[in-house]
Amino acid sequence: MSDTWTERASRVLLENYYPARLTLVRGEGCRVFDDEGRSYLDLIGGIAVNSLGHCHPAIVRAIREQCGTLMHVSNLYRNPWSVRLAEELAARVPGTRAFFCNSGAEANEAAIKLVRRHAHVTFGAARHVIISAEASFHGRTFAALTATGQPKYREGFEPLVPGFRYVPYGDLAALDAAVTGDVCAVLLEPIQGESGVRLPPPGYLAGTAKLCADRGALLVLDEVQTGLGRTGTFLACEADGVLPDVVTLSKSLGGGIPLGAMLARGDAARAFVPGSHASTFGGNPVACAAALALLETLDADRLLERVRATGDWFMGELRSLAAREPKITGVRGRGLLIAVDLAVPAKPVALAAEERGYLVNAVQEQSLRFAPPFIVTREELTGFLTVLEQILAA
Ligand code: PLP
Repeated sequence: MSDTWTERASRVLLENYYPARLTLVRGEGCRVFDDEGRSYLDLIGGIAVNSLGHCHPAIVRAIREQCGTLMHVSNLYRNPWSVRLAEELAARVPGTRAFFCNSGAEANEAAIKLVRRHAHVTFGAARHVIISAEASFHGRTFAALTATGQPKYREGFEPLVPGFRYVPYGDLAALDAAVTGDVCAVLLEPIQGESGVRLPPPGYLAGTAKLCADRGALLVLDEVQTGLGRTGTFLACEADGVLPDVVTLSKSLGGGIPLGAMLARGDAARAFVPGSHASTFGGNPVACAAALALLETLDADRLLERVRATGDWFMGELRSLAAREPKITGVRGRGLLIAVDLAVPAKPVALAAEERGYLVNAVQEQSLRFAPPFIVTREELTGFLTVLEQILAA
């Protein structure tokens, strides 16, 4: 009974999450099932994690095989799966070397340490400032939290990490003024996911990359939410013709198993030396085997093409709906990372959708976010569009 889990959870789990209404017990493809046997179409996909859907056979097979072969050895020893995964990532993001960890925040934490150390070694300690954007989200560990340009997440945790400054997102002139001689790096999301799928104006990322290169600052792109095909290219920044010095990945990388990666190239890739940074589970064979299966499936099933086609079609349908339904005031996104702005609060709409068997996320007060599995079908999305229209009309 769902009550039982609610009561049990309320006794023993810390109350850092808003209380969940659903207890999910099983997943298959694009659907999840609750403890009362109800099924839901998962249009948020574990917040951009379940890109192959739930329990994809290739991921399940890889994990099962790896669990029976080697589960963990620590970084005192090499394991072939982390080497193979780094090779596969370098084949997709040219010239990079990898550091593996367990989450998005940890990948950003590693990136922040890397750029600080790079500047220390290259220019001296005075050059240590990291610029990030207002309304950004980079995770909840201390440096990632400090980089997160949203005071509501930082309040009550001060003092934060020194040496961070914020600029308005998408404003190249503001960045130009901010990247002074004390700046070692600029850290940005190519599309701001958590603040409502906000895309920068065309040319912003390319302009930022040039500005950083001209001034000797490193460009770090946080592709934790946007990377690995979510927006229709392997990295979202490919659409802007930009290759950063450092890129962070997580979310879908492990196919549902916790895994993060920081990829660095050029000088940045030489900033860590033995002992500079570490993670007990970094490069864990099970997580890496799952990630290898994910990358293989993305290619074998040509899923990035499918993301582009389904995403364009779904956004087109949402725009047609917006033309009929004034309560939709905006539609934006790229690939299968999409948001709609509403003229009404988003939470009751998400709740009504949930009651009718669709999981969507109220990412902001008046915005819904969709990050469905790449394998979602037009039929499934059409079912949701009908329900959304009915909810908004009611
Ligand atoms: N960076 C971005 C862009 C994210 O969207 C998130 C999570 O939503 C994070 C970092 C933090 O990732 P994690 O929750 O795995 O620490």
